Amino acid sequence: MSDTHLLICGNSFNDVDRDRLSTAYPAVYVDAPADMAALESGLRASMRAVAFKGHTPFGAEAMDLFPQLGLIANYGVGYDAIDVGAASARGIAVTNTPDVLSDDVADLAVALMITQARTMIRGHAHVASGRWATEGEIPLNRKVSGSTVGIVGLGRIGREIADRLAAFKMDIHYTSRSEKETPGWTYHNDVVSLAGAVDFLVVALVGGPDTKGQVSREAIAALGPRGVVVNISRGSTIDEGALLDALEAGNIAGAALDVFENEPNPDPRFLKLSNVVLQPHQGSGTVETRTAMAELQLANVAAFLEGRDLLTQVN
Ligand code: NAP
Repeated sequence: MSDTHLLICGNSFNDVDRDRLSTAYPAVYVDAPADMAALESGLRASMRAVAFKGHTPFGAEAMDLFPQLGLIANYGVGYDAIDVGAASARGIAVTNTPDVLSDDVADLAVALMITQARTMIRGHAHVASGRWATEGEIPLNRKVSGSTVGIVGLGRIGREIADRLAAFKMDIHYTSRSEKETPGWTYHNDVVSLAGAVDFLVVALVGGPDTKGQVSREAIAALGPRGVVVNISRGSTIDEGALLDALEAGNIAGAALDVFENEPNPDPRFLKLSNVVLQPHQGSGTVETRTAMAELQLANVAAFLEGRDLLTQVN
């Protein structure tokens, strides 16, 4: 058995984050859970913690490769790639990186909404191509301030988005599993009712099987031809086929999306649309926030390996 207790898993770790972990503790590295079985059995037997980053499933079979595993420390607040039920059943703690990224994701949601409504991608192309001088102004677009927004999932990030949009004098509606203490905001029992009441529908749910397709075909139809969908949660939370059908048919006005069902290869139907703004899942992608996430992940690893209380355990 080796004295290396930390496994770093995920090909999306950058060098700085990987070095931060492996400088703190002797570590081995794999690209993905599928590569774990190839590790030498003595090494696997000594592993006590996995620092994980990515969206490829980390399930029971991979966990069972490590008889001493006690912690999976996720880089990111969303841990839907990890089978938390399987981890709990094996006495494995799972941690994530909440709060430190909420500002960035909320900022991006607001930026997406305004970029879509104010046709800023088209505006940029108009200037960059020289057509401004030859063709004049772009078509008039859509006012955001003072309109009505529906937040699907008023959790940490949803709340930050709503707070920002309140400053845009928007009428705030939301749905969550239970009503919150939010004077002046309107609660809806379900997404269809919410969608029927708003101009912009912003999705901030957790991912995973429980919320799959929660923004349903019916909800998208209820949003109507002036409606815009903004998604910074997970691709799985929206019925993507229904969204594409509605965008192609003009049954909704548009969408602004940071997340997709099939990342990093979104459905090619998205690429043909002119009423969308598409981003490469970069909600938390600032230097400052990614550093804070990496530090929180390492703090959880350190707490576990040094026998202290975990900072942000989810199970
Ligand atoms: P959070 O505070 O846990 O909020 C999650 C929201 O989802 C809450 O409103 C919660 O409802 C709702 N929810 C949870 N389980 C549900 C269920 N079974 N059915 C219906 N609703 C459910 O999480 P957060 O920190 O705001 O993060 C939200 C998500 O954003 C993450 O899980 C992640 O997928 C995504 N995210 C994306 C990026 C990006 O780069 N685009 C970055 C970070 C996070 P209640 O209000 O009723 O509790």
